[in-house]
Amino acid sequence: MNRCPWLRKLPKQNKYICRIYYNRPDDCKHYPVDIEQMVKDDCEMLEAHDLRRPKQAQITLDRLMSDSRPPVKR
Ligand code: SF4
Repeated sequence: MNRCPWLRKLPKQNKYICRIYYNRPDDCKHYPVDIEQMVKDDCEMLEAHDLRRPKQAQITLDRLMSDSRPPVKR
């Protein structure tokens, strides 16, 4: 499978939505778990300063994801 079947491109926009966002699986709710995973997946949300300061980037990621998952245990 190349693309999740729940992913939909919005018409006339370069944006995508999850059609089951509020009922998405836990794996989706928890992704991305850590900066290492984002690097491995070549995530376009990573910025140069995240790579220079991965511990701070993880703290920021945990804060951004706080409504979806608990923070990563280090
Ligand atoms: S969040 Fe999960 S279910 Fe939704 S589009 Fe992405 S991969 Fe699919």
